[in-house]
Amino acid sequence: MTDFAALAATLDANDPLRDYRHRFFGTGAPGHEADAARTGMPLAYFDGNSLGRPAVAAIERIESFLRHEWGTRLIRSWDEEWMRLPFELGDHIGRTALGAAPGQTFVADSTSVILFKLARAAVDAQLLRDPARTEIVADSDNFPTDRFLLEGIAAERGLSLRWIDSDPESGVSLEQVREVTNERTALVLLSHVAYRSGFLADGPSITAAAHEMGALILWDLSHSVGSVPVQLDAWGADFAAGCTYKYLCGGPGAPAFGYVASRHLDEVDQPIHGWMGAADVFSMGPRYEPGPGIVKFITGTPPVLGMLAMQPVIDMIAEVGIEAIRAKSIALTELVIAYADEHLAPLGVRVASPRASDSRGGHVTLAHPLMRDVTAALWARDVIPDYRDPGGLRIGLSPLTTSFAEVIVGLDAVASTLKS
Ligand SMILES: *Cc1c(COP(=O)(O)O)cnc(C)c1O
Repeated sequence: MTDFAALAATLDANDPLRDYRHRFFGTGAPGHEADAARTGMPLAYFDGNSLGRPAVAAIERIESFLRHEWGTRLIRSWDEEWMRLPFELGDHIGRTALGAAPGQTFVADSTSVILFKLARAAVDAQLLRDPARTEIVADSDNFPTDRFLLEGIAAERGLSLRWIDSDPESGVSLEQVREVTNERTALVLLSHVAYRSGFLADGPSITAAAHEMGALILWDLSHSVGSVPVQLDAWGADFAAGCTYKYLCGGPGAPAFGYVASRHLDEVDQPIHGWMGAADVFSMGPRYEPGPGIVKFITGTPPVLGMLAMQPVIDMIAEVGIEAIRAKSIALTELVIAYADEHLAPLGVRVASPRASDSRGGHVTLAHPLMRDVTAALWARDVIPDYRDPGGLRIGLSPLTTSFAEVIVGLDAVASTLKS
């Protein structure tokens, strides 16, 4: 029998990122049961892959923004910084977490809206070049919004969808992409890390396979950004989008990012023309003229308030480097799997995520028919995972904020809940 509490203590003591946890609100000291009981703060938070914790610096950042940039500078702040913010913040995310050179990334809208804009931009560019490119490739287990908006685009443009039937306990393989892409494929849209299983797709090979067939690719990086290394420029990716409220801790509804490879910036048009993406924003001219480069991909007034909380977290990721984050992420997920094999498998729990760390992202899904009820019982005990059908308890591990001790406190609660 492994002494998991002792193992976790050793892992925490040797963790080069251990002090970052205390730069986030609500993390307290390890083993702070009494505190948590008093404040209602989670003993174990396993949902950093869904809604990251707020950085302490974000609280100060937002307060000083209210007093200074908004409260005092008022409308002057548009000229002083807000007009540039969607692109400066985009470049910061691009450099830190996407492997993207400047001028290709913007922050605006929700992930769903950016996915729509980029998917429509891609299929329209393809149809213009070759009207026979009438198919969109996607996988049947992708996040609902990704599937729904592709259905809408297909209906609107008279295209058809080719679904990859992906395994909900792993994900989309290179071979599956090869099977369904051909000279009729306009666009391939896939998640890099699958939201259900945590499967990590092969970004560079799948991108190359799509290109071999003349297709464009749009990567959904919602569960990758800030958790696993991404190299969009090196992969030769065409488009990407993703959430900032998951591992980037931007807060609920924080605006998403979009990436458009520089080679597409001139030729591609996006479908929601707005004044903020126009060439001369304040000319109030009679007709839309697209703004230069990445500028045309934004539409209306950017959500400035929503761009504040993520800034100190992106700074932290830049400080430690994504490779250090990935190393801790792997160690965290391996600890969950080792614990599950020893203590949860005898209770009928199955690991519904890839076991090979090079095909696993930042979370582990534990499957058992009773997990929906187990999740409710755990929330009442301030242990916070989430639940995804069928029977999946998702354990999200956010390397900057999750400690190894927290993992064991939470998994002990899973075990004792299942036993009762
Ligand atoms: C979280 C997530 C989204 C969320 O989209 P919103 O527009 O922010 O609600 C979309 N796609 C994937 C794959 C996700 O994991």
